[in-house]
Amino acid sequence: MNKWREIQRMPRSEQRAMQDHLLRRYVSEYLQPFSAFYRELFARAGVSPDQIRTVDDLRRLPLTSKIDLLPSKEDPQRFKKFILQPDPASLKAAWPLHKKLPLLWQKWTKGTAAVKQRLRTEFYPSFMTFTTGRSAEPVPFFYTPHDLANLRETGARLVDVMGLHSEFRVANVFPYAPHLAFWQVFSAGQATGMMVLSTGGGKVMGSSGDLRAIARLRAEALIGVPGYIYHLLRRGAAEGIDLSSIKIVVLGAERVPPGMKLKIRSLLAQMGAKDVRVFGTYGFTEARMAFAECPTQDNEYTGYHLYPDLAIFEVVDPKTGEVVPDGCDGELVFSPLQARASCVFRYRTGDLVRGGIRYEPCPHCGRTVPRISSDLTRESSLKDLQLLKIKGTLVNLEDCAMLLGSMPEIEEWQIELRKKDDDPLEVDELVVHLALRDDEQREAAATKVRETFKGRLEVAPNRVEFLGLEAMLRKIGMETEMKEKRFVDARPKP
Ligand SMILES: [Zn+2]
Repeated sequence: MNKWREIQRMPRSEQRAMQDHLLRRYVSEYLQPFSAFYRELFARAGVSPDQIRTVDDLRRLPLTSKIDLLPSKEDPQRFKKFILQPDPASLKAAWPLHKKLPLLWQKWTKGTAAVKQRLRTEFYPSFMTFTTGRSAEPVPFFYTPHDLANLRETGARLVDVMGLHSEFRVANVFPYAPHLAFWQVFSAGQATGMMVLSTGGGKVMGSSGDLRAIARLRAEALIGVPGYIYHLLRRGAAEGIDLSSIKIVVLGAERVPPGMKLKIRSLLAQMGAKDVRVFGTYGFTEARMAFAECPTQDNEYTGYHLYPDLAIFEVVDPKTGEVVPDGCDGELVFSPLQARASCVFRYRTGDLVRGGIRYEPCPHCGRTVPRISSDLTRESSLKDLQLLKIKGTLVNLEDCAMLLGSMPEIEEWQIELRKKDDDPLEVDELVVHLALRDDEQREAAATKVRETFKGRLEVAPNRVEFLGLEAMLRKIGMETEMKEKRFVDARPKP
């Protein structure tokens, strides 16, 4: 954290020099010698580690993508090729004398066992999470004790960026799962000494159980996925629960629709909580860390504040893979600088960002670290049904989610794709299911959804259907599914 205090205000040129240094060291002393995948990739690309000397040299290396991680027939355990696995010979060959000497010294003074223990702490996996997504096989990502220390460090940095502190009482309602989000919050608590109650989300204690626990704890911060937090607060408001202690809401694991921060604030105001700050965060399994927005008076989307000593982000044209100019739209590419165990490098996240990365100091907190624009489309939310051709038009379902999630009159929604008369040879039908705040508004809401879809997505739903809130919550599996079912493809398989 001492280092973080320094880095977050470092001039851009110093940050860049630090990254050049860390990058050189990481590529030549860790990635190339100890990663089977990247050793082959360097060889195939005809790049030697000493050609990667600055951040700009990164583009000499080919990009890696999700497909490279997936099991194949020839190699069902492909993920293992991404784990840094040194042995005595490769350590001896790859490490410069100044790195080997301390080990030798330790061997002389404390014996071989001590050296082994030290290398274990750095290189032996002791923890894992998985990538999520229903269509692709989940890919395990491993952590060594060194990586777990970094997970606590990034936890402490998140707490710092969001302006929380060790006296905070936090309710973590991310599902208990081997997923980054839950463990990042858990680690933040461990690192800072905050009181963290992890309820496991709706599946474990139910939303009523969660609400009672949060009220009893007098929690000041509430952390979870936007859909579940909204559901929880709506139920709390309906049941007249006192949540006046809440000061901060942190939304993770999904993109936050533009109107969502406002909706959350107005629900909390009904339960007595005034002047609540709502933050978005960004993280993904492969990074094994998350980033946050900083506080502003009006809950602006300030961008995700990065840690330049832990990772380098680039923005590339998703079609050509070429790096785009600063501030331009594109796909985020990730390279770690301190990672052990599972390492991906120049890794295409699949996440598309409008407005790219900003390098000028943050106008709100003054930190000089780069910031990823908050206008991010998560790959994970579109993995299964990304761009769908509906009635001849390509529709991005994430855009549908943003439109519906932002309308104040809509409580819950689901989009369903069908074939007319369930006939596989017939045309597609787009059905929007809605639960409204006020059922008298059905006609007006249907018209608004039709017109917004037509205007923004060039495709109007064939039908808008209505359901009561409870029936809708069951339909989307709010407290029973790991992730709400927002998109259903009910088209019969041809
Ligand atoms: Zn800031």
